[in-house]
Amino acid sequence: MILAIETSCDDTCAAVVDDDGRTHANVISSQGIHDAYGGVVPELAARAHVERCDLVVADALRTAGVTLDAIDRVAVTRGPGLVGALLVGLQTAKAIAVARDLPLIPVDHLHGHVLACTLQPLSFEPPFVALVASGGHSFLARVEDPDTIEVLGGTLDDAAGEAVDKGARLLGLPYPGGPHLERLAADGDPTAFAFPTGAKVRGLDCSFSGLKTSLLYRLRDLGEEQVAARRADLAASYQRAIVETLAVRVERALELTGIDRLAVGGGVAANGPLRERLAGLGAAVAIPDRALCTDNAAMIAAVARFRPAVDGDERASLEAYGNGQRPPIAA
Ligand code: ATP
Ligand code: FE
Repeated sequence: MILAIETSCDDTCAAVVDDDGRTHANVISSQGIHDAYGGVVPELAARAHVERCDLVVADALRTAGVTLDAIDRVAVTRGPGLVGALLVGLQTAKAIAVARDLPLIPVDHLHGHVLACTLQPLSFEPPFVALVASGGHSFLARVEDPDTIEVLGGTLDDAAGEAVDKGARLLGLPYPGGPHLERLAADGDPTAFAFPTGAKVRGLDCSFSGLKTSLLYRLRDLGEEQVAARRADLAASYQRAIVETLAVRVERALELTGIDRLAVGGGVAANGPLRERLAGLGAAVAIPDRALCTDNAAMIAAVARFRPAVDGDERASLEAYGNGQRPPIAA
């Protein structure tokens, strides 16, 4: 039985997962204190993690119907993310591991998004091509076994989730924009406006900065009245451009690798039209439930099943790494 803790951003998460990938508890406490700022405030996130981390861990154990006596290993997100936020989960995990003399398994957050689909009931095993589209990252990878991740391409500028959030913001929607954009787009015509899909970027990389600028200019040119009348069409067309940008790269990756299995992860994978588009590609496609796409600790436990543990002095001196300081995912 693995106890996993994840505090890389603004969700305080703890999960209990067994070695067969069965989730016994997956508690996610969303802070909900950042909305007024239009983005996550790192210091506030860290403080909120301090207040709730112990409670969330206790809640996960209670939900799983176990005590710490049943836990064999502790897994924790080591990075990338907000360092102050990461430290709270890391220190909590270290404290539990040291106090109970349990092995500690540091996990890369993005490795978690890649392997979320390996949990039951999907139990989608490598080899597969993985698409991770999250708030801070977007990349395609070849995954031959759970611990070997070869990044094939990524974004040249914004992450897909950033494009979602920035576009939503331009349309006057609250943060985080994903679910709001999807709801507004549901009433719109995705072909009403033509937005760029990074066609100039060849291969498996993608780019979203041109898309965002294109929306900005379109809103300016339309003027307030027209924008108000056509918000749903604008949202649907913008969302479609993001979906197409990703889907075209996924198709290329499947072709290039000759692997006809696709695993999808990251918060943007919660998007209905993206899920539908990818499901229609003809490959075997695994997209976890929405709660496993956005940040959670079950996906961290999923990775821990395949990673070595650290013990003794190394365990106590383990450090977090922030955004931009990331070693290769499976290193
Ligand atoms: P990273 O994993 O790169 O460190 P993160 O953990 O902050 O970043 P996630 O929680 O994986 O990112 O994903 C958050 C992103 O997912 C946000 O940009 C959010 O707007 C987007 N998102 C959430 N739900 C949806 C949805 N239904 N449609 C589109 N995007 C969505
Ligand atoms: Fe994430």
